[in-house]
Amino acid sequence: MRINLCALFGLLLGGAAHAQGLPRENPVPGGIALLPLAPDSEPVPVVHFDGHRVMVARHNGRWEAVIGLPLTLTPGPQTVAVNTGRGANRDYSITVQAKEYAAQHITLKNKRMVEPNAEDLARITREQEIIRRAFATWTDEPLSSLSFRMPARGRISSVFGLRRFFNNEPRQPHSGIDIAAPLGAPIVAPFAGTVIEIGEYFFNGKTIFIDHGQGLISMFNHLSRILVTRGMHVKPGQKIGEVGKTGRVTGPHLHWTVSLNDSRVDPMLFLPGKKPRNE
Ligand code: ZN
Repeated sequence: MRINLCALFGLLLGGAAHAQGLPRENPVPGGIALLPLAPDSEPVPVVHFDGHRVMVARHNGRWEAVIGLPLTLTPGPQTVAVNTGRGANRDYSITVQAKEYAAQHITLKNKRMVEPNAEDLARITREQEIIRRAFATWTDEPLSSLSFRMPARGRISSVFGLRRFFNNEPRQPHSGIDIAAPLGAPIVAPFAGTVIEIGEYFFNGKTIFIDHGQGLISMFNHLSRILVTRGMHVKPGQKIGEVGKTGRVTGPHLHWTVSLNDSRVDPMLFLPGKKPRNE
């Protein structure tokens, strides 16, 4: 991609004040970059990163891009493509900092959850396509405040981004946070949205996807009960299901993934006043 305007924005590192109404910035793989754009008297800019449409929020009199940074991203300069809304295209550069995530070793008694058989693999492939499509959802909802509430009460038993080994086999990094809670404990919507998918999957168990708008998607896994249906609109704090231990688990807990522009990011960045470990 050709850079015709390279505006280095000296993105503030973690520790910067939590911008009111926006998630906390932490420009690392699995984090979020904030990119201030034109004054909000101008038309809404259309922003793309890594081929995906990016959320643009109104903030302090400006349009601001809220960019999810994939865990697989290489630290260093990255290009953000902006269309000004008046037809002009500009590329901006952001700097992604390196972050080393801790390793986590998990022992599973159910060997099929580590080495699925051929039938399981066919099912997993089908389900991955449904999950891929859900995370790629884009709806043009204007969003003002982006403060989430915790979807369940309990201790955070696994933080985001852990490099995971199941029975010593390397697997995908932890794409969300785990909240330890008893079987049947209520799960509430952390933010308003629309239920775009529900299902029971091999690894994720009983699952709900909520589209909060502008590429911001929540996924809730391992439920015992799902209390919503596809297409249902949910309010913040509305009960959507109950904690369970379906899918690949060692005990009852809620796994919560937050995705922005199809990048899984640390949900803690959306929770004011809560700082993830190692940040
Ligand atoms: Zn988890």
